[in-house]
Formats: sequence, structure tokens, C-alpha cells
Amino acid sequence: MLSPRSIDPADAHHLPWWDTLREDYTLAVITLGGVVAALWLAPFAVWRALQGNWLAMANDAVLTVLLGGSAIYAWRTRQTRVPGWIMAVCIVGGIWAIGVAAQFAALFWAYPGVLMMFFLVPPWAAATLGAAAVVGAAALSWQELGGTEGLPFFVITNVLTGVYGFLVSQQAQRRIGRWQTLSLLDPLTGVGNRRLLEVEFAQGFAGTRSAGTLAVIDLDYFKAINDQHGHDAGDAVLRDVAAVMQATVRKTDRVYRFGGEEFVLWLSPADAEVATAVLQRLRQAVRAQVRVGQTPVTFSAGVATHVPAESWQACLARADAALYRAKGSGRDRVCWADSGEPPSRQ
Ligand code: GH3
Ligand code: MG
Ligand code: MG
Repeated sequence: MLSPRSIDPADAHHLPWWDTLREDYTLAVITLGGVVAALWLAPFAVWRALQGNWLAMANDAVLTVLLGGSAIYAWRTRQTRVPGWIMAVCIVGGIWAIGVAAQFAALFWAYPGVLMMFFLVPPWAAATLGAAAVVGAAALSWQELGGTEGLPFFVITNVLTGVYGFLVSQQAQRRIGRWQTLSLLDPLTGVGNRRLLEVEFAQGFAGTRSAGTLAVIDLDYFKAINDQHGHDAGDAVLRDVAAVMQATVRKTDRVYRFGGEEFVLWLSPADAEVATAVLQRLRQAVRAQVRVGQTPVTFSAGVATHVPAESWQACLARADAALYRAKGSGRDRVCWADSGEPPSRQ
């Protein structure tokens, strides 16, 4: 009934690196920090050491390790929150350090620093850290700035840079959010689609919190509903069934539309007894609340309790085989995987 097709859920891990950079702007900025660390700061650290300027050497070396380490960590884990914060703080620290070394370069570094902040940390933090960088650079390079004469220009151009960073990063974030909603939710029923199932199962089953029960639910004689009452009536049934499912299960459970008139339920944590009760409740609720004309809608379900270390595809295949049996033995019923009966308690 189902065809466990195996697209890799963690798509991002398999994109070419340049596409990954284009998809994830925080990762792109962290990578830029790593490149600057490797190509600019690291050679500087060596040069400072050769000069015997140990303080400057230590400063460059620490920044190299933090920025380079953050970039490597972000690429390996695809987690950008902590590396983003590290890099944002490094930018402020770096600008101050340049200012302390009494170099006017701090004034120039403030601009990319302020801009990047908004792609690394939340706006309030970016504004705060950006202000700290600007104030530090101005105070430490006061002479080169031109004192009170240059200050308003320095501040206003940095504010403009920050506003620009804020607007662009907010827009990008919104687009990503909208894209995710569109690509992971089923537009007809509003529940998760197959793609979301694959992403969440791949993550959940790889982790330790994989104790649960999986049910594949297929509406009975759905083609006849479409044929006799029209496609719109069929759509309304799908919407109603999905709504009943979401209202029936607990918050920790997951409902997905796997395709057509097939849904997948993940009950977690749930032993056979709990799963039996949930499915019983669901059958009654669908029968009572979803009708076409006078006829109640029913479904058949195949259920499998996840066994440790089993892949989600294998678990789904067992549940699907049980669904096949439920259909074969008359529909409007729940069949368990393997023995056909709920596994007894150990
Ligand atoms: P069984 O009891 O064996 O499951 O029979 P069935 O008629 O439910 O199964 P079958 O797989 O033959 O029919 C599924 C139907 O679901 C066929 C297809 O037209 C319909 N369908 C799939 N997606 C949608 C949809 O989004 N909206 C509507 N209205 N119908 C859909
Ligand atoms: Mg079907
Ligand atoms: Mg069906």
C-alpha cells in the first residue's frame, strides 16, 4: 500500500557546499568568519610571534581558534546558534582589540562587524553587540576618528549599515519560514506531509527517544466516496479525518498525511495497551464525526511497536503489512504487525 521510498530527509547534508551556503545565511557568515580566521588572522598570529609581540599574537590566536572552531563545528553539525553567538562576541572583542592596539583599522572593521551581527544572533542582541563594537571603536580610535567632528558620521553610517542588515536578515528569515511551512505541511489537511515525516523520523529514530508505536491508517472505500459524492466531498472527508485525528491524539503524538487517503500516526511514548486505546478512540471518533451523506467513514489500520535499533522504514513496512491484512480481512479494523495481536506486556 505504501511504497517506502527513501529520499534522504536531511537534504541539507547532501547539497553541494555552495548551495548549502546559499540556503543557510548564518552558516555562510560563520564560514566567512572561519575563512578570515584561516587566511588573515592565523598568518598575523605567526607574524606577531616573529615580532615578539606576544599579546597581539595571543589575541589573534584566540580569535583564530574561536572563529575557525565555530565554522568547523557549524559545518559538522549544521547547528549555527552557538557558533553564531561565538562569532558575534568575537567580532566585538576583535574590534576592541584592534582599537586597543591603537590602530585606526577598528573604525573600518566596525562596518562589516555591525552588518554580520544581524545574520548571527537575534536582532536585539545584534543591536546591542553592534553598539558595543561601534562605541568601543570610536572611543579607542578617537583621534583618528576626528573626535566629536567625525563621531556623528561614524555613528550614523554604522546605524544605516545595521538597519540594512536587520531588514535583509528579517526578510530572509521570513522567506525561509514560509518555505518550510509550504514544503512540510499538507495544504489540504494542515497536518505534516510525507516530507516532514521523513525528516522527523530520521531525526527521532536516530536519537534515543524512539520508543513508540507507529500506525498506518487508510480510509476504507475512499474511491467510492469520490465516485459517488464528488472529489470535493472526498477532500472534505480528508480534512475532517485529519482534524479528528489531531483532536484525538495527545500533544506528543504526530499525525502525517502520507499520501492520498493514507495517514501515519506516531504515538510516543506508547506501549501496545495505550496504542490500542488510542486507535479504538480514533475509530469511534471518525465513525461518529465524519460522514458522507448518511454513511459513516471508516478506516483500517496497521500498527507496529517500534523495536530498538529498527529503522523507521522497517517499522513502517511492518505496519503496512499489517494494514494489508486489515484490508484483506474485511476493513474497518486494526491489525497489529507480526502476530496480528497487540504484543503482550513483558
Ligand atoms: P480501500 O478500502 O481498499 O483502501 O479502497 P480505497 O477506495 O480507499 O482505495 P484506493 O487506493 O483504491 O483509492 C484511493 C483513492 O483516493 C483514489 C484517489 O482518487 C483518492 N484520492 C487520493 N488523493 C486524494 C485527494 O487529495 N482528494 C480526494 N478527494 N481524493 C483523493
Ligand atoms: Mg490507499
Ligand atoms: Mg483506502
